[in-house]
Amino acid sequence: MAADRTRADSLRWMVQGSNTFFAALAALPDDRLDQPTVLAGWTGKHLLAHVAANADALVNLARWARTGEETPMYSSAQQRDADIDAGATRPAAELRAWAMRSAETLHARLAELDEQQWRWQVRTAQGRTVPAEEIPWMRAREVMVHAVDLSAGVGFDDLPADFLAALLDDIAAKRSAAGDGPALTLTATDHRGTWAVSGVGDSIPVISTVAGLTAYLSGRPAPGVTSTGEEPVPELPRWL
Ligand code: ZN
Repeated sequence: MAADRTRADSLRWMVQGSNTFFAALAALPDDRLDQPTVLAGWTGKHLLAHVAANADALVNLARWARTGEETPMYSSAQQRDADIDAGATRPAAELRAWAMRSAETLHARLAELDEQQWRWQVRTAQGRTVPAEEIPWMRAREVMVHAVDLSAGVGFDDLPADFLAALLDDIAAKRSAAGDGPALTLTATDHRGTWAVSGVGDSIPVISTVAGLTAYLSGRPAPGVTSTGEEPVPELPRWL
């Protein structure tokens, strides 16, 4: 499947994803934030600190696009991880407020960008150079997928179908570029098209709904996923 999402799509998904994330978060009592999540080594507080710090980091990219002055997302990968660990020790109320405030700031900063600034080249934390119009897409991925990771009643099948198809395009491309995982051919039972992931060995056929395939390809629990081949469906490392 070719990526044909537009900036308008990304902005819409960013707002939808943010609403979904904060609605799920509001339903979680504070003590649940001290419990482990599906993400190895992370409690709910780690996840919340990460989502808040991600918005701050994307605000840096929006500033870069607006001013032309290089402002990286994070000073380093080590600093990013240290800030998540430090954030996870803060009181729940502070983390909730930080996550909300940083999301609002990001949305406001993006709304200020003009046509030329949207096309300004910035660098992601993974070192890719992308136009600033990737920022709302990068944020949409985070809030949508981490809304599910909160385990507060949101599943991949609650996310918009067009977003899930775009996310499958994105993850399939990223995993193919890395090329170090198993080769896969993903077929959706409820959507036209297949997604190929290039990698090691003969391609393994993987079948599920678009929501199930997205859960699987992002390295999350995906119980409804099956293979028509002889090999069982291989487990994938977490993405995002
Ligand atoms: Zn993330």
